[in-house]
Amino acid sequence: MEEIELFATENKIPIMQKESMLYLMEYIKVNNVKKILEIGTAIGYSAIMMASTSKKVNITTIEKDKERYRLAISNIKSHNVNDQIEVINKDACEVELNDTFDLIFIDAAKGKNKLFFNKFKDNLQPNGVIITDNLSFHGLVENPLLIKTKNQKNIVNKIKDFILFLDNNQEYLTEYIKVGDTIAISKRRDDNETNCSS
Ligand code: SAH
Ligand code: MG
Repeated sequence: MEEIELFATENKIPIMQKESMLYLMEYIKVNNVKKILEIGTAIGYSAIMMASTSKKVNITTIEKDKERYRLAISNIKSHNVNDQIEVINKDACEVELNDTFDLIFIDAAKGKNKLFFNKFKDNLQPNGVIITDNLSFHGLVENPLLIKTKNQKNIVNKIKDFILFLDNNQEYLTEYIKVGDTIAISKRRDDNETNCSS
């Protein structure tokens, strides 16, 4: 895995930070997560890490970039988890799935979080969870003084809009965990709020 981490750093591939990666793996173990959908494979780092938590974990992961897809396939094979991971080389916007998942991990284009959340929430088990990475965007969301480019400003605005969307969401209750680049954990409200009549 260190090789993949090094390759990612050298080639500026934004793989998940170690701290949040470990948090996510622990979450998968503690909550007995079995079926995962990941949006944004990159070169397979997070998928391999999640698959390594248990042989019972199965992952469907989507990557639109051909070269990254190829690298992901090769990395997944060399880590002997190819029987647990299916990689789809497509734009996630165009992927239609019938399966349901215990966990949906959104880690693709930062401006498309809301779109992917709404698109794939129907593929979530009733007691499932949607986890989104990079809610802090390297601290730029909390500290606008760090914003240097128009593109960064654009992404920060979209992440802020996504946070508002989560905060006002009637269907899902979101908790923000400040590990790594901050992750959002969203669960259906009806499973988490006590009913008045009960
Ligand atoms: N989850 C990975 C990192 C993903 S980086 C890890 O932690 O190891 C984000 C990836 O999402 C990039 O490789 C990018 O090509 C991909 N991506 C961006 N938009 C996408 C889309 N619309 N559909 C599929 N993949 C997309
Ligand atoms: Mg990420």
